[in-house]
Amino acid sequence: MKVCIDPGHGGSDPGAVGNGLRECDLTLNVALKLRDILLSDDRFQVVMTRTSDVFVDLSERARIANRENCDFFVSIHFNAFNGKAYGTEVLDYNGTGIGRVVGQTFVDILEAEEGLYDRGVKATHSTFAVIRETKCPAIITESCFIDSASDIQHFDTSEEREKLARYHYRAICAGFGMEPKQEATKPKICYYVTGGFGEGSKASQEFETFMRSKGWYYDKKY
Ligand SMILES: [Zn+2]
Repeated sequence: MKVCIDPGHGGSDPGAVGNGLRECDLTLNVALKLRDILLSDDRFQVVMTRTSDVFVDLSERARIANRENCDFFVSIHFNAFNGKAYGTEVLDYNGTGIGRVVGQTFVDILEAEEGLYDRGVKATHSTFAVIRETKCPAIITESCFIDSASDIQHFDTSEEREKLARYHYRAICAGFGMEPKQEATKPKICYYVTGGFGEGSKASQEFETFMRSKGWYYDKKY
């Protein structure tokens, strides 16, 4: 199965901003984690619409998936409204088929594992170019509201977003009638030793330089 992962927003378009977080950073972080999980399962191939903080036009995102003949398209977003709205929802272009199963599984998992309010899977026939113009089944996940303090506390650290990436993986497996692989659902911790430093701030600077030199995502919380 070839899955196109689309981290919402990026570059000149930060998306929603709330509680000191930018949607474009969270979506990229979850997307890169989901990519690594899917690639650790040999039944999947992955296509990314972006892997860094750059602007990609919505139609271009759909074209990437179409050109690569992807079997499924998942666009990762976080919701925002007035600071009072909360919960998880999935937008599904058709409201039927694989997208519906992935979406329903996803909201069920977030309700069961995180206690997030289930806003349901919504069929959206025309409004969103990114899922309208893709030929394969396509969904947008809105895991929670970035501008709701009680919602976003579930995913405001890199470790929590690792869990969120795994929820996406489990839901995608369900859509294709596959069992998730156990090893792919367990977090992996890697240690990188960059040197010994007298000051903590020097160590974190050195770590950031190292991560960026590898082109890896750097989350300041670590
Ligand atoms: Zn968004």
